[in-house]
Amino acid sequence: MGKVTGFLELDRQDRKYRPAADRVRNFKEFFIELPDQTLQSQASRCMDCGIPFCHDVKGLKGCPVNNQIPDWNDLVYRGEWENAIADLHSTNNFPEFTGRICPAPCEASCTLNIIDNPVTIKSIECAIVDKAWKNGWIKPQIAEEKTGKKVAVIGSGPAGLAASQQLVRAGHEVHLYEKNSKLGGLLRYGIPDFKLDKSHIDRRINQLSDEGIIFHTNVNVGIDISSDEIISLHDAIILAGGAEMPRDLPIQGRNFKGIHYAMDFLPQQNRRVSNESYVNSQEILATSKNVVVIGGGDTGSDCIGTSIRQGAISVTQLEIMPEPPEKEDKLSTWPNWPLKLRTSSSQEEGANREFSVMTQSFEGDANGNVKKLHCIKVDKDFKPIEGSEFHIKADLVLLAMGFVSPKFDGLLKDSKVNLDNRKNVLANTTDYKTNLDKVWTAGDMRRGQSLVVWAIREGRQCARAVDEFLMGNSLLPR
Ligand SMILES: Cc1cc2nc3c(=O)[nH]c(=O)nc-3n(C[C@H](O)[C@H](O)[C@H](O)COP(=O)(O)OP(=O)(O)OC[C@H]3O[C@@H](n4cnc5c(N)ncnc54)[C@H](O)[C@@H]3O)c2cc1C
Repeated sequence: MGKVTGFLELDRQDRKYRPAADRVRNFKEFFIELPDQTLQSQASRCMDCGIPFCHDVKGLKGCPVNNQIPDWNDLVYRGEWENAIADLHSTNNFPEFTGRICPAPCEASCTLNIIDNPVTIKSIECAIVDKAWKNGWIKPQIAEEKTGKKVAVIGSGPAGLAASQQLVRAGHEVHLYEKNSKLGGLLRYGIPDFKLDKSHIDRRINQLSDEGIIFHTNVNVGIDISSDEIISLHDAIILAGGAEMPRDLPIQGRNFKGIHYAMDFLPQQNRRVSNESYVNSQEILATSKNVVVIGGGDTGSDCIGTSIRQGAISVTQLEIMPEPPEKEDKLSTWPNWPLKLRTSSSQEEGANREFSVMTQSFEGDANGNVKKLHCIKVDKDFKPIEGSEFHIKADLVLLAMGFVSPKFDGLLKDSKVNLDNRKNVLANTTDYKTNLDKVWTAGDMRRGQSLVVWAIREGRQCARAVDEFLMGNSLLPR
């Protein structure tokens, strides 16, 4: 603990955003970095508490990758940035992703958060890794000895990337298969550039490539190559294909033109930004439209920010859940992730938010284009409140109500792997092993729709289990 009285002397100070009117003109990241001096003094607010709930207690709260937050806060306070990145990398392969887009459960569980504002952990994490890249401290770590074992990882999202990096560093020959033309999973095609610039992914991919990972893009395993063939060619296989099946809203009028899944809309914009074609799909644009986003989570927010940048006339977001309280009762929620009203940067840019709303039907015009949503307010048990019916004008409706499971056709059908009762691939978190010989699974494909930080955790832990299987023991962290 660098400064014993830091938390008594200093108030929380965090990164600010460029003004909304300015940032919505493009798809660039918009947070304003804090100067080193501010970051160092903010790090000194960390109390190095006896039980650092921020870095996770029994996998239930705090940081899912067990970042050793008090340790690197201390290093940052002392200006030892290079040691700080070494510490941070010991638990997290990709802090530049989490430092930008993690909801930061660590901050909710920071002990200082009980009676004060938490340490600015996420901004400090991001600053450590950004500085490390800038100064050339992040280099490929090439395994000195090769094991002669071949591993296939299917899916290049954060789970697949983390698992691949751990395994190649353990000396295995890693083949990463991805059905898209570029690597990164939802980091690349789901999360908009204004939240995560894709150059951060490209830079990591170069590092992974230099470490020896062999990439096979445009290969849909289970369709372009059979699961049996992949299994026969490798000593171990990790399924990290994500949870791509969106939740639908099968109500009257669902077939009108202009009603789309969020994940038909968002990837197109990411591709536009990177000049990648999106052939085989009809262009979806919010320009000059009244947009309604159904669903109040991260994906919904990303639809809002993207629609506003495309020049929508209006954006309304509907959420079936009641409006949460503005502030949590910390004494009853800490150190857990509290339910409270959060306003994302995209919502702040100009969305109209409606809570406790159920959409009952869509109405269209004579040409089959959606024009209206018929809605009703619901009570806390989601029962419609009689007489509360209303309608909203809409030219574009984006369904952002989450993902129910991985896609079944292709890989899962072909491999005949066992699924759990939610239709995710069945495996526990002790060994991540599926029912199939030589086959493991990690990330959203196993746990269901989740977070980047959980995908990294699962990729790392799964890699350890695979390494143990291949070598009899493993030096990779659990
Ligand atoms: C729009 C959106 C915004 C989000 N925002 C956030 C956020 O701000 N913060 C956060 O923490 N989380 C966010 N998430 C959630 C987060 O992105 C996911 O939890 C995370 O990416 C899951 O990682 P994964 O590696 O398990 O799967 P994915 O990232 O889904 O990657 C799976 C990869 O597998 C590939 N694949 C699938 N099947 C095959 C096959 N048969 N052959 C070859 N390749 C295959 C897919 O093409 C994909 O590239 C968001 C999700 C969405 C959809």
